[in-house]
Amino acid sequence: MKILVINSGSSSIKYKVFDMPKETLVSKGVIEHIGEKGSAVSDHYSGLKIILEKIDGVGAVGHRVVHGAEKFKKPVLIDRAVVHKIRQCSAIAPLHNPANLAGVLACKKLLSGIKQVAVFDTAFHQSIPEHAYTYGLPYECYKKYGIRKYGFHGTSHEYVAKEAARIIKKQFSEIKIITCHLGNGCSITAVDHGKSVDTTMGFTPLEGLVMGTHCGDIDPALVTKKKKKKKIGPLEIDNLMNKASGLKGVSGISNDMRILEKKAKEGNKRAELAVDIFVYRIRKYIGAYIAVMNGCDVLVFTAGIGENQAGIRERITNNLFSYLKKSPKIMVVPTNEELMIARQTYQLVREV
Ligand code: ADP
Repeated sequence: MKILVINSGSSSIKYKVFDMPKETLVSKGVIEHIGEKGSAVSDHYSGLKIILEKIDGVGAVGHRVVHGAEKFKKPVLIDRAVVHKIRQCSAIAPLHNPANLAGVLACKKLLSGIKQVAVFDTAFHQSIPEHAYTYGLPYECYKKYGIRKYGFHGTSHEYVAKEAARIIKKQFSEIKIITCHLGNGCSITAVDHGKSVDTTMGFTPLEGLVMGTHCGDIDPALVTKKKKKKKIGPLEIDNLMNKASGLKGVSGISNDMRILEKKAKEGNKRAELAVDIFVYRIRKYIGAYIAVMNGCDVLVFTAGIGENQAGIRERITNNLFSYLKKSPKIMVVPTNEELMIARQTYQLVREV
């Protein structure tokens, strides 16, 4: 069966087609600049039409949906009720969910009668216990507004954790794994006996590690302090923390770790500092998650930096486990979120 995997963003649609269950990649591509001034592609419907002209025999569609909040704990077959719930989640993911839905609705029109599945970035983290997902804010913030840790990159963490277990021939449900997704966005997850029990990203992807342009953990009091002093509004602060911080903000050079590693080696102090804080924060969270799970059998690296930059991996793991009786196995597992979505879609459409 041909499974079309769609990642529909605000101005782009990325797609891959897999032949399942063989898992062969049949085709892939991207439509960009959707709805932008001067673009030939006015909306997601037109974008998908172009994609579908190149593919025939689609058996089912798997959609990446960023936020499922507490409404979705696993992939689901899309019907009207599901569309409604995804729309409700847009309140806490205004940048992503509407764009994901645009892809879903376009597919519904163009591929009427073909089963569609939503796979959520947050779903794998729905097993995180209450004491780990609840912030120390007034409880009403959670009850009334759904403010809590949700976590992201769930499809990637689940994929690489399962792959790691398969490669070392252990049951996923029997081992403790720490997965480090280190790309432009970065997060670490503690996977205890097959379940996510904590992850570094939070209500939004801003929490946790120092990333390409995201600041990660900071003192929340800074947000209001800064506003008073410089009279900058919420939008500028949002921009500062999301787009002008992290590796880029600290180094003043780039968010690209390859460039920073090179510059640091050449003696650039700010590049060196950016790499140092990146590595330090990761080591700190790995230590924390070993404490959370009372051990760790496997440490997995994935995504751009995790897969390709051995020097960074070495700095992270150097002398990190000396206090443990047995060091975890360290592995690099290339992530493949689209294949994970294809697998979950195939499984679900066969079940119903
Ligand atoms: P995204 O979160 O945008 O998917 P990636 O997983 O592509 O990010 O990771 C981007 C980061 O990985 C950058 O800091 C980049 O410097 C680093 N990187 C190192 N080697 C490579 C590589 N061979 N290909 C892509 N990114 C790489």
